[in-house]
Amino acid sequence: MSPGDGNGRNPHCVVIGAGIIGSCCAWYLQKSGLDVTLIDPVLPGQSCSSGNASCIATSSIIPFSYPGVIRKVPGWLLDPIGPMYIRPRDLPALIPWFWKFWRASNMKKVETVAVAQASLMHSAFADYDEILKATGSSHLKCSKGAIHLYDTEQEYRADQWQDQLRTSLGFESHRLTASELKSLVPCLKLDQGVATMMPDWQHLLDPLRVIEHIAEHCTGNGGRWIQDRVIEASSTESVVCLKTESGRVIEADKLVVATGAWSNEIATQLDYKVPMIAKRGYHSMIADPGIELEYPVMSLSRAFVMTPLNDGLRIAGTAEFAALDAEPDYKRARVLLKQASNYLEGLQYEGVTEWMGPRPMMSDSMPVISVSPGHANVYYAFGHGHYGLTQGPTTGRIISDLVTGNEPSTDLSAFRFDRFV
Ligand SMILES: Cc1cc2nc3c(=O)[nH]c(=O)nc-3n(C[C@H](O)[C@H](O)[C@H](O)COP(=O)(O)OP(=O)(O)OC[C@H]3O[C@@H](n4cnc5c(N)ncnc54)[C@H](O)[C@@H]3O)c2cc1C
Repeated sequence: MSPGDGNGRNPHCVVIGAGIIGSCCAWYLQKSGLDVTLIDPVLPGQSCSSGNASCIATSSIIPFSYPGVIRKVPGWLLDPIGPMYIRPRDLPALIPWFWKFWRASNMKKVETVAVAQASLMHSAFADYDEILKATGSSHLKCSKGAIHLYDTEQEYRADQWQDQLRTSLGFESHRLTASELKSLVPCLKLDQGVATMMPDWQHLLDPLRVIEHIAEHCTGNGGRWIQDRVIEASSTESVVCLKTESGRVIEADKLVVATGAWSNEIATQLDYKVPMIAKRGYHSMIADPGIELEYPVMSLSRAFVMTPLNDGLRIAGTAEFAALDAEPDYKRARVLLKQASNYLEGLQYEGVTEWMGPRPMMSDSMPVISVSPGHANVYYAFGHGHYGLTQGPTTGRIISDLVTGNEPSTDLSAFRFDRFV
């Protein structure tokens, strides 16, 4: 299909969900000449996409399900300031997902996922550069890399297989000497640990502003913005029909479902449920931390990230397995402050705000970027888990190719909606 042919009008495409994924899809679709409507009950970027650690973490290609990971879970759960928590009352509903997660924890699957993720990650910087330049946001990205920390040599060595796999797929890292680390991050305390430089990381200085710019650029060029929730979705061969909470009925030629952790609500109406859960994360944001960080610093031992943003230092992490609509438990955000104080000499807590957001987490750690198995005019873009901010522009470009009938440059078989059947 080429936009604008046949009936004299451009095809109308609705994108549901205005997080980083939906906003990027809408932007690329409009750039390709479609008539675009973006719909969300909250303003662009106000859900999971604004409160994350803000890293464009292209070398993060290793799935969370790998050999031996299940053995680590009891230790994480028993540690009161550990990185993982399961709400007991939500556990029964999570068991089918954990079962699939465990089934994916073999080395063959890990390598398959890493290769597939690398195929998306390799173009992330170029796709970001394109969208940031076009939307006047290039000044909101920093390209210095990031620093990874291990508390002990033993933990570092145990993860070396991951490093080797990343290197074999083209992502570099190098170990820093103590003096190199001191000159890069003077306030860092790391007595017995190991630090590595990750040159294949960049970060956004204000992720919310970036998403707002992308959505505003789309609407400023003729796209429509509707603040409403889709409650019903159906599709025939020629038309998609949506009903919203406020009573709107919207018809379109094409539909993109980019509703993050809520995507099964729409997917079950159009196709069926896929193994995705909300893996909830938290942040504490310190407006005036009293220290200077130039690089995002991630503790692999304690699973959290400290990222310097325009409006302060963000400390983000935690894997809380709970129902999507469960009340946030902000003591998990306060735990992150305590963890950060273990590493940062002189950290102050002036002006702390707290946040929780649901990562859309597939059991195999890979997103769904796919045409619907049941409807040729419906496309899915969700399930990006820990790396949606990284993969947003690339996903938007690929979805635009799929919708407009261009052959995507990436092999999408690993990201099919129906891969779990
Ligand atoms: C603590 C934490 C740290 C993270 N750090 C990073 C990082 O450093 N780098 C990285 O790449 N990723 C990171 N992530 C992951 C990243 O934030 C997510 O993968 C990403 O935000 C998912 O984007 P999304 O657009 O799919 O979802 P969302 O941002 O959640 O957007 C989905 C939107 O869909 C809307 N919606 C839902 N249902 C409907 C409906 N029925 N009708 C209309 N709209 C609807 C919602 O309101 C929402 O606005 C982190 C996540 C967390 C929690």
